[in-house]
Amino acid sequence: MHDQELIACHDCDLLQRLPDLRTGQKARCLRCNATLGLRPKDSLNRSLSLTITALVLFVLANTFPFLSLTLQGQLVESTLISGALSLLEAGNPWLSSLVLLTTLIFPLMNLCALLYVLLSLRFNYGAERVRSLYRLITYARPWAMLEVMLLAALVAGVKLGDYATVITGFALYCFIALILILAAIDNTLDPRLIWRYVKQQEQL
Ligand SMILES: [Zn+2]
Repeated sequence: MHDQELIACHDCDLLQRLPDLRTGQKARCLRCNATLGLRPKDSLNRSLSLTITALVLFVLANTFPFLSLTLQGQLVESTLISGALSLLEAGNPWLSSLVLLTTLIFPLMNLCALLYVLLSLRFNYGAERVRSLYRLITYARPWAMLEVMLLAALVAGVKLGDYATVITGFALYCFIALILILAAIDNTLDPRLIWRYVKQQEQL
């Protein structure tokens, strides 16, 4: 019984013990049926390949133009970083740093840390940093706001459409794919796999 984790449902707050799930099983709340835990199949390898894909998409999304505008015959191309830097030029250093932190630095840091953690689990190497890095990922996650950024960019693009011709860039598609891949990582990654590994390493 002591192996079963006591958790509160994130939807209805009911306290219940989470059974030790087998691969492919899902635990649901007794009262409201919300998913409380899952043990996806081949979690480690799938999360690892998704994380590598996400990193490639992240680089592409930050390299190619995000949106291009043609106004009175002039073409202006904008990347994610140039957008944040133009806020700095416009005299908004705080806003510019916030955009850079939430859309570039935190998401990149999270992905790199996750890649390290998963590689460490996969190849059983460098375990001493896994605990602190996974903690960092958990704390930094709410600050990575790529979805908000995408929504803001789309709204701005639609609004600007009244005044200029807006051309969607390759980076925009990479960005959308990146958000979908990040959601897939959340559904594939089994945090208990990581904590179990940390515990095992500490007992050695
Ligand atoms: Zn519930």
